[in-house]
Amino acid sequence: MAITIPADLTIVTLRSRGGELAQRWTEEYATSVLRQASDLLRSRTNIEFSRGTVERVVEEMPSDAASETVDEAGYHFLAATHKAGTGVRALLVDRASRTELGGQSRQQTRVCLIAYGSDVAATSRMMAHELGHLLSLPHVDGGRRPGPGQERLAAAWMRNLMYSGALNPAAELTETQVQAARSSPLARRFGGR
Ligand SMILES: [Zn+2]
Repeated sequence: MAITIPADLTIVTLRSRGGELAQRWTEEYATSVLRQASDLLRSRTNIEFSRGTVERVVEEMPSDAASETVDEAGYHFLAATHKAGTGVRALLVDRASRTELGGQSRQQTRVCLIAYGSDVAATSRMMAHELGHLLSLPHVDGGRRPGPGQERLAAAWMRNLMYSGALNPAAELTETQVQAARSSPLARRFGGR
């Protein structure tokens, strides 16, 4: 049975020294990225994400955070300011200080952060990966390096959607990962078991 989880989209433009910074996300682009991320996850896990609200906000980063990009402190500020509703929230920012922010707390907040990317397929894979984290999936490689003779394992990791590095278009999920996602606390809220 398909599990449908609502995803609210919040396009966050930063304001610094009285002026608004660049923001390349549009509502149309955000909607198509979410649709492709949802299609990918539905084909693997039968979990889909429906578009909830879409809003645009302007925020000034707090004094302990970088002001012209979103860093770890900036993520925590934004996740506290724009809490998730019943489902998940994706914060869409023009730039982030590094690829993934929020660490373990993302699962609790149900809020992920996606930096703009002009390639819709690659950006959708990144969103699917982040939604995977909200579905309690850790990195498949867990920062480990396979030893000698484990080239096949390394290759499998690199094809996996939850790889810690650059995401391969194969975007595979194992049966174990699918079961874990469908029984995660987030999926259970929407009928998973
Ligand atoms: Zn990750």
